[in-house]
Amino acid sequence: MTDIANISTLDRASVLHPFTQLKDFASGKAGDPTIVTGGKGVRIQDATGRELIDGFAGLYCVNIGYGRTEVADAISRQAHQLAYYHTYAAHTTDELAILADRLVRMAPGKASKVFFGMSGSDANETQAKLVWYYNNLRGLPKKKKIISRQRGYHGCSVFSGSLTGMSFYHDHMDLPYGGVLHTGSPHYYWNAETGEDEEAFSRRRAAELNALIEREGPETVGAFIAEPVLGTGGITPPPAGYWREIQAVLRRHDVLLIADEVICGFGRTGAPFGSHLYGMEPDLVTVAKGLTSGYVPLSGAIVSEKVFKVMEDGADRVGSFSHGYTYSGHPIAAAAANAVLDICEKENLTEHARTTGAYLQRQMAAAFSQLDIVGEVRGVGMMSALEFVADRSTKARFDPSLKVAARISQAARDRGLIARAMPHGDILGFAPPLVMTEAEVDDMIAIASAAVRQVMDELARG
Ligand code: PMP
Repeated sequence: MTDIANISTLDRASVLHPFTQLKDFASGKAGDPTIVTGGKGVRIQDATGRELIDGFAGLYCVNIGYGRTEVADAISRQAHQLAYYHTYAAHTTDELAILADRLVRMAPGKASKVFFGMSGSDANETQAKLVWYYNNLRGLPKKKKIISRQRGYHGCSVFSGSLTGMSFYHDHMDLPYGGVLHTGSPHYYWNAETGEDEEAFSRRRAAELNALIEREGPETVGAFIAEPVLGTGGITPPPAGYWREIQAVLRRHDVLLIADEVICGFGRTGAPFGSHLYGMEPDLVTVAKGLTSGYVPLSGAIVSEKVFKVMEDGADRVGSFSHGYTYSGHPIAAAAANAVLDICEKENLTEHARTTGAYLQRQMAAAFSQLDIVGEVRGVGMMSALEFVADRSTKARFDPSLKVAARISQAARDRGLIARAMPHGDILGFAPPLVMTEAEVDDMIAIASAAVRQVMDELARG
């Protein structure tokens, strides 16, 4: 049994927690840490023995659900056989070579090679360096700027954090660094002009991107990075025609497309990758999260034939590819990923996410779209969001001090469900494990409904 008081004391004294109000946590005002002790299927358990439905799959990653012993066994087997070796200078392991081959075959675009890292952030750092390397080798040393979108999320390391398009990830930390440009978010609900349909909005966003590239000079713009479905910025599927229009602009200016599939990859949208769903042909693809379902850290920067050809042709001139981590291609992570991908294949999880996801979207709309405080119900596959507004007709936002989404999230948690108050506005996000059944979707929505109604009542009472 976990000694709750002792672990809480140790944690409070020594752990620097991400995304936590440090003073409130240190003083105890924000309560004790939740000590997570176990997980099975779509549920986690805390040290008090309480079970919670994890409507966010950890951080959109535990696609196969918790407690899959096949993955634990694969990790154990590899750890017993060979816990570590590096991949520098052409060293490899069975599991890694098999995994890379699988990824190249399943990835969108014309994939050629995978560079392995440990996190989505470091994979996007690699992508930036690949863009710079590619254009240096092509003799285009000025073609280096990378464009991302407002409300895009690409990590929180120095450069990936700069790509992230939300100011609260930059403030007080001297970001963004140079060489990053941000263009408008694809969120139709907030950004469309009166009478503008989705196709027209997409054309406008593409025209803005085109104008930005022309203003900067196409010879200075190397790549555009985007999530197929905006994730942390609010779980926002693209408006109709968006990716067709954007890709036409990128091709016109010889700008690479980096598809950040960290959330969308491995079935989350109901398609193998988000790029498949929206007809994207990326030159570089970033994967993490679902690759190992979070069981161990692993990410990949997947390089297309087009980019790799330039790297290969340049090798005689520049020597070896001087980029790599101690843990690039860690054999235990590779073994875990292969076991996870086996489960995804055997259980047809992408198809399951497509059908259960369609059910999730229907039930979310039925439960919430008529409520007074819900401005938009949106999503695709196994990801969904509610956007709360004070007035549906004017889209007036709630006073931030009311903390509407945070209160609803807390009310849901008190009733046994984790649904995430997203960091940008009053948004409640859902991204459950892909293995969730329709009955579990019903349980999740019933709890979320009760939580929303509780806070609506509180707001009405003033
Ligand atoms: N890209 C996207 C689209 C993400 O959602 C995230 C994490 N939420 C990252 C990159 C960064 O991944 P990590 O937290 O593993 O560094």
